[in-house]
Amino acid sequence: MKEKYNYINLKKYKLNFKWILPIFLIIAVLSFIGFNYIKTLTYRNIYTTISELGKQTATQLNLSIQEQKQFVDTIVDSINKGYFSTESEIFDNFSDNLENYHFTRLAILDRNGNGMTSDGHIVTNYPITNDFFNYDNVYLSENRKSTISNDQINIYSRAFYLNGQERVLFATIYTEDYKEILLRRLYNGLGGTYLINNNGIVLIDSFDNIKENNISLYNFIINKYNITDNEKLITINKMRDNIKNKNTGTFDITLDKDTYFVHYQDVGINDWYVINIVPASAMAKELNQFIAISLGVCIGINCIIVSICVYIDISNQMKNRKLYKTAFVDPITLLGNENYFKEYSKIFLNSSKENKYIITVDINKFKALNNLYGYDFCNKLLNIFGEKLKIRMPKNNITCRMYSDVFAIILEYNKDIKQLLEKINNDVSTINVDNIIIHLNISIGIYKIKKSDSDINKLLDKAYIARKQIKGTYNNYYYVFDEALENLLINEENIETSMEEALKNNEFKIIYQPKFLTSNEKIVGAESLVRWHKNNTVIMPSNFIPLFEKNKFILKLDLYIFEQVCKDIAYWKKEFNANIKVSVNVSKEHFVDENFIEEYVKIADKYDVDKSNLELEITESATIDKNIDILKIVNKMKACGFSISLDDFGTGYSSLAMLQELPIDVIKIDKIFVDKANLDSDKNIINYIVLIAKQIGTEIVVEGVETKEQADFIKALKCDIIQGYYYSKPIDKEKMKKYFNEENKVLL
Ligand code: C2E
Ligand code: CA
Ligand code: CA
Repeated sequence: MKEKYNYINLKKYKLNFKWILPIFLIIAVLSFIGFNYIKTLTYRNIYTTISELGKQTATQLNLSIQEQKQFVDTIVDSINKGYFSTESEIFDNFSDNLENYHFTRLAILDRNGNGMTSDGHIVTNYPITNDFFNYDNVYLSENRKSTISNDQINIYSRAFYLNGQERVLFATIYTEDYKEILLRRLYNGLGGTYLINNNGIVLIDSFDNIKENNISLYNFIINKYNITDNEKLITINKMRDNIKNKNTGTFDITLDKDTYFVHYQDVGINDWYVINIVPASAMAKELNQFIAISLGVCIGINCIIVSICVYIDISNQMKNRKLYKTAFVDPITLLGNENYFKEYSKIFLNSSKENKYIITVDINKFKALNNLYGYDFCNKLLNIFGEKLKIRMPKNNITCRMYSDVFAIILEYNKDIKQLLEKINNDVSTINVDNIIIHLNISIGIYKIKKSDSDINKLLDKAYIARKQIKGTYNNYYYVFDEALENLLINEENIETSMEEALKNNEFKIIYQPKFLTSNEKIVGAESLVRWHKNNTVIMPSNFIPLFEKNKFILKLDLYIFEQVCKDIAYWKKEFNANIKVSVNVSKEHFVDENFIEEYVKIADKYDVDKSNLELEITESATIDKNIDILKIVNKMKACGFSISLDDFGTGYSSLAMLQELPIDVIKIDKIFVDKANLDSDKNIINYIVLIAKQIGTEIVVEGVETKEQADFIKALKCDIIQGYYYSKPIDKEKMKKYFNEENKVLL
């Protein structure tokens, strides 16, 4: 069977962005935090790397300068020891080693700057400051220009006496040569090193950015990048102060959109400082890799979380849809079920359209079809039936199967509704199921919805009530809810609103209908029957008992009546020493479980009434109700000491087997059998029941005996007891006294 859920509104699967968005945002924020954390870690890592690098550069430089100084010391020490007497001897002895120490040449000058170099140049008037004339230690000069080659050089110098003359030894080195040490090709050549003195004057620039001499690195940076930002100026000043105070440090600064990592490190010579600078772009590969990995991880996690959420949502929706299906879809017709009808009719009712109707459709004798063709066949029948109904409906409708063979429709119809009903009747009058043609009769109840109507249950009731009016009348397959029915409902409503008050105000009174022995026509007991005295009129039980059974008020009323009966029995016993047996009607609405019997026992005990004086009347219909465990209930009633009678016997279809199983004391044959007492076949039925009853040892009461003829007939059948107008109508409590006074008629 193909599924046609389009008959009802099944929601489509839909992504719910309401929560996906916040989750996405949360993940984004978390990613951002995570990313920043990772970035901090990276920066820390870079800081260590760069400061390590700075230290190495400074140490390297320091070591090679120390070596060079030592070489100069060696020369001067050997001069001081008197090994040499001329400059030439000195030069000859040490020239070969110059290259090993990166020295270009040696020179020996006097105080006036006159002298000669190891490679034969004559030097005259070289500007010598006092710093050069240090007898104890080697002095290393800052950059200066070579008078020989015009190159930038640095001079190592130490003073000594040669032949009593004051002299100074120069060993010169190209400033460029330092670069070799400094320029450790930092990060693909993108990083570089400055050597500065503690005033910030640049001595060596491995970047070759600075062409002029005597330039302060700080000023150079500030000018080059045009720094006005206070924060950056503070950073640079901090470096300047730290260097002044011989401190080491690392920081990062963003200039022209690139971030630079800077490390400054004391060389340990002449207050010189090595400044290592690496732009972030030099680290780009590392950084980018890092960023890519962390971004990838974030995006990956995002995707996984979102996928999980989407999966959970969709499977929830699927579950909901499944639940929705079981809650709202009728599996046989694939139309909506009762829940669906009630839920969606509300929306339908709220729309302001006119000409709305509610219809219930019922297949007559469907039970018989079920018995004849089986469930599977009849399920197919219902499916086709539902489809035919649905197809015939105008656009605006809700068509559902409520239960078994009952369908309900709420619709908007602007033409003659009776014509639509005719068409429906025609459509479904013959149905082909598996090539078997089934002829159907249907009953339709219809109610035209008023604007003021809002309670869907009440509307359904009206359509059901209307439909019930046609049961049994041929040719009429529909009934439109009319005023008479409306009044009936209003009446019911009135009853419902006043019943509780009525109980409090003792409006419910009991009358007793005596029962007589057929053998001697003596009273043998009585049945209690309720009457409602309302506003000076007496309402008969048939007008309120069915309603009370529907709204369960009967549970209260029965107990009330039972209590009154117990009171009366106790009163009669006390006043007249009468030991009369009274039967009380117990509605089957009590029988949902057997615990209610305790209430009855309590009441009987309260008035000290012997249970054998009480007979509980249960209807035959209770014995065939599948929801009632009648055996358990009757057994418990019996066990508590009550007598049990089976009322209205013959109107239901209880089996004789059941009758034998139940410990019943009395069978009350319904009055319809005496009504038709003249009919031979029915006479036989009573005959037959009497026979069985005798067999299983129960008493028989025949109800509704009105004439002598009927009474004689019953007597002839040897039934034990008669209850009927012929002997007595139901009478009130006072009138019962006459039976007690006429001693001979009281059964003690
Ligand atoms: P029921 O239990 O079958 O009671 C017998 C009914 O037949 C009573 O109708 C009685 O007045 C009537 N009746 C008795 N003899 C004759 C007769 O010769 N001819 C005719 N035409 N009728 C006769 P009533 O009092 O109107 O009660 C109707 C039904 O209401 C009862 O049928 C019983 O099922 C129910 N009922 C009455 N009182 C109570 C009650 O307190 N609790 C419950 N649950 N049901 C009650
Ligand atoms: Ca009864
Ligand atoms: Ca009865």
